[in-house]
Amino acid sequence: MAHPTHRSYLLRLECPQCKRVFDPHQLQTFCPDCRGPLVSYYDLESVRRHTDRDALAARPRGMWRWAELLPVFDPAKIVSLGEGDSPLLCLPRLGAHIGMPHLLLKDESLNPTGSFKARGLAGAISKAHELGVERVIIPTAGNAGGAMAAYASRAGMQAAVYMPKDTPQANMLETRITGAEVHLVDGLISDAAALAGARARDEGWFDVSTFKEPYRLEGKKVMGLEIAESLGWQLPDVILYPTGGGTGLVGIWKALKELEALGWLETKSFPRMVAVQADGCAPVVKAFEENADTCQMWQGAQTLASGLRVPKSFADRLILETLRESGGTAVAVSDSDILAAQRHLATAEGLFVAPEGAATLAALQILQRRQWVRPDERVLLLNTGTGLKYLESSFPEEFAH
Ligand SMILES: *Cc1c(COP(=O)(O)O)cnc(C)c1O
Ligand SMILES: [Zn+2]
Repeated sequence: MAHPTHRSYLLRLECPQCKRVFDPHQLQTFCPDCRGPLVSYYDLESVRRHTDRDALAARPRGMWRWAELLPVFDPAKIVSLGEGDSPLLCLPRLGAHIGMPHLLLKDESLNPTGSFKARGLAGAISKAHELGVERVIIPTAGNAGGAMAAYASRAGMQAAVYMPKDTPQANMLETRITGAEVHLVDGLISDAAALAGARARDEGWFDVSTFKEPYRLEGKKVMGLEIAESLGWQLPDVILYPTGGGTGLVGIWKALKELEALGWLETKSFPRMVAVQADGCAPVVKAFEENADTCQMWQGAQTLASGLRVPKSFADRLILETLRESGGTAVAVSDSDILAAQRHLATAEGLFVAPEGAATLAALQILQRRQWVRPDERVLLLNTGTGLKYLESSFPEEFAH
């Protein structure tokens, strides 16, 4: 296995709110004072001196070719299943049909376990492995549990997963088959999080909940690095991101800022970041529209896009800051529009995307009607997973026969 020999330039972790610094050579969780996420800072000046942007393209494919900008110090501790380097596709037929000729889609369904959660969990589990963790626990809306279980197996760790009992079947099965403990919770991911958190405290498991450890963010960040590289170090005008916990939204923006500091970008124009949520669970949209700094817990969250069924993200401040700093916005879409968009992507381009990914197309059509995007703009949809994991929810009756 061709592990990179390039070293990480991670310097420190910092709480963006109180600026307290944390040591990345110790196991870290979140800021105990602010109860918010920690962010990784790298010695970008040294990366800039020692690393050639174009040499990265010649390294073996996958997310770990960005080792300098990832948190694992010892390459032998990297736990990989081949995640990263997902295709960036042009969508000319769909684009012509909706009047957006420069439409792009980054297709994360090709990742191990069928979703982009693989990137985040590869980051978190690798770093935990480096720091000697042997038992990991997670609350999940579905895909994160499957991905964590897979990477934990690969690392020889014990795994426990808490998921709502209406999580897609595929997520339960992919988790169980790895030998992980699966606990079905009568409630939402927030209820699962409370149970997993209590178990972690009582029994000393390491909790890899979204943003409650620092490195899922770093794994997901690589999507931003890949997008810039694939476009010849130019950037799209708009990126639509289906937002649950918001790791990828915050991560892509972080990556673009790191590339700017490295002097690797060929443009000064940054994308407007759009958080896409479902009508039945839209805490970020509500907070954005009310000009609030944080989200309120969404009551009675409901949508078939299980990855978007997150009543309140632990990183709500960072999500809202990213939207505002980038000049972006937040949009909620209905489940019926999600299903229509899912079919549209399949009929026009052959892509059977996850409902969360389809939500980005539904949101784009709303933004077109509001004239928030212009037809000549380069818009990137992020498809976060494969439709094959949602067979029970994706198929209206007419397809069942
Ligand atoms: C988890 C998930 C999301 C939401 O991602 P966040 O980074 O938590 O916002 C979107 N789509 C799919 C398929 C997911 O599994
Ligand atoms: Zn703090």
